[in-house]
Amino acid sequence: MVVSLAACAGTAGDSAGGDTAGKGGLVGVAMPTKSSERWIKDGDSIKKQLEDQGFKVDLQYAEDDIPTQVSQLENMITKGAEVLIVASIDGTTLTQVLQDAADAKIPVIAYDRLIRDSENVNYYATFDNFKVGQQQAWSLLNGLGLTDLEGKPVDGAPAGPFNIELFGGSADDNNATFFFNGAMQELQPLIDAGTLVVKSGETEFTTVATLRWDGEVAQSRMEDILTKTYSDGSKVNGVLSPYDGLSRGIISALTDAGYSVGAEWPIITGQDAELDSVKAINNGEQFATIFKDTRELAKVAVEMTVAVLNGTEPTVNDTKTYDNGKKVVPSMLLSPTIVVKDNVTSVLVDSGYWTQAEIDG
Ligand code: BGC
Repeated sequence: MVVSLAACAGTAGDSAGGDTAGKGGLVGVAMPTKSSERWIKDGDSIKKQLEDQGFKVDLQYAEDDIPTQVSQLENMITKGAEVLIVASIDGTTLTQVLQDAADAKIPVIAYDRLIRDSENVNYYATFDNFKVGQQQAWSLLNGLGLTDLEGKPVDGAPAGPFNIELFGGSADDNNATFFFNGAMQELQPLIDAGTLVVKSGETEFTTVATLRWDGEVAQSRMEDILTKTYSDGSKVNGVLSPYDGLSRGIISALTDAGYSVGAEWPIITGQDAELDSVKAINNGEQFATIFKDTRELAKVAVEMTVAVLNGTEPTVNDTKTYDNGKKVVPSMLLSPTIVVKDNVTSVLVDSGYWTQAEIDG
């Protein structure tokens, strides 16, 4: 299957000039929103790396508006893009525009988020999303003193019970389910054992999901939970949050409800190593985040672009996990890294992702 895809994509490459296909050609890059730092870093990295290889780049952000993203993709097709790299807003809404891309023989690379319900997705560049969810759970458990950062139980761990609350990402983003399922695989046994208690009772993904990954939505749900469930003087000890932007909303809700950093401040997780959240880790508001190096992900997408244009097979390491409802999309999964206060410098500063001055600023 991989071979036939590469061969098919080669048609587009050949028309642009065989082995040197794509050099000087246009690549369309569709990103979801500038409201989250990570996508700005992704877009900048992809653009720079493509331009370094002689491509022209049409980089567009859709401010989380689905029709805007569809029309940006239509424009890229009209302008003669040779490849589309797409981080979707709602992974189920691009079927028609990707059919138009296929009709114009334009290969499509799903970037970070799987595009669902379409045969016209050639490759998928992402991180191990299930593992991200497990790492979020492990960081929560580690903060509560129950396991190490790889989920191994700690000797002499406290018996609990600990009150926790669960947040999920946007239900229309395929990743959100992977994160939640990965986390629940680790948390459920401890919930069943009574070590963890989801005091609100809200444990279903559909109930805890946060449309468009909106921090304000998470903040108001946390406020409601604190009012409904914790007015009896009990405390929330931990919050599973799948994204730094949600964590910041949750932190605001807790602060407004009178929590302050110290003994009774809950363990809060996150994702993306956004600058404000790295600062929050340093000052104790957030316990952990999951770092996914956007420069490395961009590199994979650029390698895939060059390969499809040259009619060769990009490197993939997973050909079974990402069924998009129409096909299993050949995927390259990168490894995510847990960041806690102790390794902020070694993981984020030493790699040049953030400077110490940015983190301290
Ligand atoms: C990405 C996460 C990000 C979230 C919100 C997900 O699809 O994988 O890294 O936190 O979207 O932007």
